[in-house]
Amino acid sequence: MNKKTVVLTGAAGTVIGGVALDLLGLVNFKAVATSAWAGIVKAWEWLGASASIPHWLLVLLSLSGLICVLVPLVAFISSTRAETNSMFDRFSYVEDTFHGVRWRWGWGRNGSIDGISAFCPRCDLQIVAMVHDGFSPTTKFSCRECKVDWHEGEGNWYQVSDQIRMLIQRTLRRRAQEAASATAPPK
Ligand SMILES: [Zn+2]
Repeated sequence: MNKKTVVLTGAAGTVIGGVALDLLGLVNFKAVATSAWAGIVKAWEWLGASASIPHWLLVLLSLSGLICVLVPLVAFISSTRAETNSMFDRFSYVEDTFHGVRWRWGWGRNGSIDGISAFCPRCDLQIVAMVHDGFSPTTKFSCRECKVDWHEGEGNWYQVSDQIRMLIQRTLRRRAQEAASATAPPK
């Protein structure tokens, strides 16, 4: 860079700096503030004004707003309902088949399984258990109408009904596990 170039560059810098200062001087801050306020007022008026838009657009905008509210609401309600259902399932489970015999029972107030009864799997007639006492008692479940021996369990009636109670409780535990794994979030 020779001396001439330096002088020229310096002159150019002075000119550009001067122009910039002049521009700053031209800017009237009061005018800026006034136009900014006018802009805010216009924006406020625009927000308050009514617009004529096609009805399909109005419906679309309303629907999208509605969906934004409804989707989370439905998700919340269905999750609550699923919980209630799994609670209710336990008490709606009052019938099953074990050892080829249909069993029915009720639920006590404290959640106990009460009134276990046996029924014929073919004709649904209630079965009166026949206990064969002895050194090792057995209980036979035969239908008087179908003349079929459906099951002969080890032990007396109380022991057999205890076994059925355990089978019912195991089924409930399995159902609870299945429900828990079905509702668990994917890993
Ligand atoms: Zn029968």
